[in-house]
Amino acid sequence: MPRLLLATNNPAKAREYRSLLKDTGYELVTPVEVGINLTVAETGSTLKENARLKATALAARSGLLTLADDSGLFVDALGGQPGVLSARYAEEQATDRERLDYLLNKLKDVPREKRTAQFRCAIAITTPGGLVDYYQGQCSGVIALTPSGEGGFGYDPVFYLPQRGKTMAELPPGVKDSLSHRSRAAGKAAKALRRLRNQQAE
Ligand code: IMP
Repeated sequence: MPRLLLATNNPAKAREYRSLLKDTGYELVTPVEVGINLTVAETGSTLKENARLKATALAARSGLLTLADDSGLFVDALGGQPGVLSARYAEEQATDRERLDYLLNKLKDVPREKRTAQFRCAIAITTPGGLVDYYQGQCSGVIALTPSGEGGFGYDPVFYLPQRGKTMAELPPGVKDSLSHRSRAAGKAAKALRRLRNQQAE
């Protein structure tokens, strides 16, 4: 079975992608599993650019077809902030909770109907020769007035889904994975990978 390198050393993300990309006909491997220790700086100004930077660097180093992603929270009332800087919002070393408080403080005078936001994810799949394809997904919601829920990570406790009546952090396990920005982008990537495998098999 051909191998697909997942450009992440985050075990939770790797687990999520293993589940989302099962049945594509690729064996998913992580950098540490193929003996690669490479940190790629996320210096791009868009999610796509950061995903491409990570995927091309790791594909060139490994000689493997490589998948990388980048994601973030885009708040309409803040002109799309924190966006590509979501992981570094507030201070570089801030905790998730400090980042939430920082965001809520920025939105303290913004009424409920203007607190719309999206989680967005961009995936880049790159060949060792440098060919890149992109797959994107997003999930829309509203920034809650206060955090609620223990599940998920990052901004999940303030990302309220009106159609569910819950924040992302209050959803039962597994439900987030069925509607998240990452699963939507990964669903498109999985389709393309299956197509590629079928072409190779012909
Ligand atoms: P990355 O794609 O893991 O680099 O995500 C960048 C940052 O975006 C994270 O550190 C979080 O702050 C935020 N983020 C991305 N996806 C999610 C999510 O599913 N829930 C909550 N926060 C997220």
